[in-house]
Amino acid sequence: MKTFTVITAAALCVTIIGIGDMMARPRPERVGLPASNIGIPWDDPCSHDDSLHIYDITHYDIHVDVDLASQLIYGDVSIRCYSTDNSLDEILLELKSLTVDTVEVDGIETVFDYHSDSLFVPLPAPLPEGDSVLVRVIYHGHPQHETWGGFWFQSQRAYTLGDGLYVYPPPYNHTWFPNWRHPADKSTADLWFTVPEDKVAASNGELIEIIENIPQQTVTYHWKQHEPISSYLYCVAVADYLILEDTYYDWIESYIYPSHQSQALVSLSNVHLMMDAYQDLFGSYPFQGKFGYAMTGGGDMEHAGLVAHVSSAVNGLHNFDWLLAHEMSHMWWGDMVTCGTWKDLWLNEGFATYCEALFHEHAYGEESYRNYVWNSLMSVYFNSYELFPIYDPVQLWTETVYEKGGCVMHMLRHVLGDSLFFTGWNEYGDRYRWDTAISEEFQEVMEEISSQDLDWFFDEWIYGPGYPRYNYSWHASPSGGDWEVFLWVDQIQTSGGPFTMPIDFAVISSVDTVIQTVWVDSDPFETSFISGLNEPVSLEFDYHNWVLETHIEIPSAVPEVSTVPLVYSLHPAYPNPFNSSTVIRYSVPNRCRIALSVFNVLGQKVVTLAEGSVSAGEHSVRWDGKDAFGNDVSSGLYLIGMNTPGYQQVNKVILLR
Ligand SMILES: [Zn+2]
Repeated sequence: MKTFTVITAAALCVTIIGIGDMMARPRPERVGLPASNIGIPWDDPCSHDDSLHIYDITHYDIHVDVDLASQLIYGDVSIRCYSTDNSLDEILLELKSLTVDTVEVDGIETVFDYHSDSLFVPLPAPLPEGDSVLVRVIYHGHPQHETWGGFWFQSQRAYTLGDGLYVYPPPYNHTWFPNWRHPADKSTADLWFTVPEDKVAASNGELIEIIENIPQQTVTYHWKQHEPISSYLYCVAVADYLILEDTYYDWIESYIYPSHQSQALVSLSNVHLMMDAYQDLFGSYPFQGKFGYAMTGGGDMEHAGLVAHVSSAVNGLHNFDWLLAHEMSHMWWGDMVTCGTWKDLWLNEGFATYCEALFHEHAYGEESYRNYVWNSLMSVYFNSYELFPIYDPVQLWTETVYEKGGCVMHMLRHVLGDSLFFTGWNEYGDRYRWDTAISEEFQEVMEEISSQDLDWFFDEWIYGPGYPRYNYSWHASPSGGDWEVFLWVDQIQTSGGPFTMPIDFAVISSVDTVIQTVWVDSDPFETSFISGLNEPVSLEFDYHNWVLETHIEIPSAVPEVSTVPLVYSLHPAYPNPFNSSTVIRYSVPNRCRIALSVFNVLGQKVVTLAEGSVSAGEHSVRWDGKDAFGNDVSSGLYLIGMNTPGYQQVNKVILLR
C-alpha cells in the first residue's frame, strides 16, 4: 500500500476577507465563452435520438491506465445494461475519437460498429425488458478535449472536465470512457486509475485501495462511487498532489499542487463554513466517501465528490470563496438532483449561484447576504443586458441561467416566506434524490408545499424574458389621525411582463420606518395605504432588494394637501417622447363626464383612451401607440385632448419608433 502525504490546516490563523473586498467575479467555470452558441448542433444528432436509448446503465467498472509520457490512455470498461424494451437488440454507446480494440457481451467477444463517435454493440438476441447484459469495451488512444471540457494532459499532469462549453449537448466524458451522455441515465461505478508511482489519481466517491504495481513502477487507485450519478459527473485528476485534510471535517480532503501548499492553506480554510451552511440548509452531505477539491489547470466543475478547482483560484486569498461555495452546493443541486434536460439548466446553475449568497448569509449574516445578492447576482445580471428566458435559454452558460436563476430563488423566497421556501426546496431534494427533475416538477413541489398556484411566478420569471423596470411616484396626505400614502407605479420595460410582484415599500418619517408590502399586480398600478401617525418624508422602493427590478421616482404632480384635487388637470404624458407606450394622468375635482382622446396633427381622432363618468380624484391611462383598430401608428407628433363640461386641455406627445 502507498501512503498519502497529508497536511492539515490545524495551526493556521486566517483573516477573513469581507464582502467589501470581493474582487470582480471572473467565472473560471465559464472562461472563454463563445460569442454565441445559438444553433450549435449536437455532436452527433443520431446518437442522441433517445428512441435508441432503450436500456438503463446501472454500473460502470472503469479501468483506465493514464500514460503521462505518451499522452495516451488505455481503457477497459464493463457496463451493466438493463433492457427497458423487449425490442432491445443493440447497445449504443458514445466514445469520442478513440480506437476500440475489443468488445465483449457477457464475456463473449463480438463484432461491433464504431463510427462518428458512436459504438454499436449487437446483442445475440433481443433482450427482454428487465434483463441485463454486461458489455465490455477495451480501447486506447489520445483523448480529446474542446476549449474547456474533456480530457487534458498538461505537463506531467492530467485531468478531466465533464462538460464542454462549446458543444451541445455539453456532457463530454465520452472523451475518455464509453457511456450514454444523457443526464437521466444515472449509474454507480468502480473506477481504477493506473498512473506513475510518483503520482496520485483522484476521482469520485470513496477511496477503496491503492495497489502498487512494482514491476511497472505504477500505482492503481481504486475509487468507488456508491450513489447513482449522471455520466458527466465522473472524473479523474492525476498529479503530484498533496492531500489537504480539513481540520473540522476529516472527510473533506483536497488535492493540491505542492507549489500551492501555503496558498491552499488560506484559500481552502473556509470550506468547513460552506459545508456547515449547506448541511444546515439541505441536510447531510449526500455522498458516501470524501468531499474535496482537486486543483487542475482548467476551470471549476462539480464532479460528484471531487470538484475540479482551477489552480489560479488557489492564491492565498479568499476572493474565490464564492466559487468554492458554488461548486460545493452542486453536490446537492446538480449532482444529487440533476436537471432533466439542458433547457432546465437553471435548476443546477441558478440554484448553485443562489447558494453562493446563502453561504454568505449563513457565515456572515443577513446584511452580507443582501449585499451579495445585489452586487454579485442582480448587478451582474443587469450588466449582461441579456433579455431571454431562463427556460430553454438561447445560450446555456450565461448570466440569465446563473445570476438571474439565482435571483429567481431569492424572489421565490420573498413570495413564499422562509419556512415554506426552504421546506419546499428540501422536499424537492428528497423527492428527486439520485434522479433528474425539470422546471415543472420543481414548481409542482413548491405549489404543493405552499398550497399556492405559482403559474404566475414561473410564467413571469422562468418562461418569460426580462425584468420589470418601474417608474413610480407617491405623495402622502393626512387621513383622520394617520397619514395615507398614495402610490402610482408604471412598468416601462420593453421585454417581458407586465410583472406581478410583492414590492416592499419603506415609508420613512423623522421618527420611524414602516414597511408595507404592496402587490403591484397591474400596469399602470395605483393604490393607497395608511402608513401611521408620523408624516412620511421619503419612500424607499423595493426595500432590501427582494425583486430583480430597476426603478425611477417620478416627481409627483399631485397636490399634497388634499387627496381630491381642487382643479381639473391634464398632466404631461410620461415618457415623452415615447417608444412603446406612454402614460397620461389627469384629475378632476368632482364626479363628471370626460372624453380623453388622441388626435393626429390634422385634428383627426386616432383613438379614444377614456370616455364616460369618472369619480373625483387622480386617474391615469396608457397609450400604446395604436389606433382604434389596434394598428401601430407612425412616428410623429400627436395631441392628447381632454374634454369635460367645465374644462378642455390639449397636450402634445411625440411617438418615436
Ligand atoms: Zn455551476
